[in-house]
Amino acid sequence: MPPVGLKLLHPLKPPTYPTTQNFGENPNWYPLTHGHNGIDYGVPLRTSIFATLPGTVIRVIGDNSGYGNHVRVSHADNLTSIYGHMDEHNWSSVHEGDQVVAGQELGLSGNTGHSSGPHLHFEVREGTIAFDPLPFIVTSLGGPVVIGQGDTVVVQKPLFKVRILANPTINVRSGPSIVYPKINSMNMAELADVLELGGTEIWVRTPKGFIALRYNGDNLAEIVTE
Ligand SMILES: [Zn+2]
Repeated sequence: MPPVGLKLLHPLKPPTYPTTQNFGENPNWYPLTHGHNGIDYGVPLRTSIFATLPGTVIRVIGDNSGYGNHVRVSHADNLTSIYGHMDEHNWSSVHEGDQVVAGQELGLSGNTGHSSGPHLHFEVREGTIAFDPLPFIVTSLGGPVVIGQGDTVVVQKPLFKVRILANPTINVRSGPSIVYPKINSMNMAELADVLELGGTEIWVRTPKGFIALRYNGDNLAEIVTE
């Protein structure tokens, strides 16, 4: 039984792509699993796919028969999520061993493996047994807005702007500390709105995520007053 209160963040943004095959459908096509063992979403080639739960990436691999190029992520409670039929080239944005947060991009959809058209096969297992994820899928995790957690960022009036000084780029993270994963980067001289002061005084939240204004005594970004 899936854990009580399980919330699976929808693997696509926006979460409005059509479902082309539900869990359990077509048992004659999938005799070993007594029906389709995930949910298929019809998405155009190279649509971004996002992690449904926080966890560790355990497979970034291709197979020509079943899932094609796919990512598997291991989660708490003996759960594993699988994202199948990803694209042919430069399809993954994670590596095996990476820690990911819910809502973090894993890669790009495609049509590899046993697939008759571009789609995402989204599957969640408890142990080795897939279950129907549909009752657990949410489009927002609620709670405080953390970039990369899949929540819509509320549009706010920026507090001020910063200009990036780091050469050539600065890491943009999902939370206000270096313990959070890198989700983006910004280039030297780039301007960014500051939407929120994050945690400690040197971290600020921009529309792309959190950046540190200083590190080891060096200024990485300067406040711009116009
Ligand atoms: Zn499928």
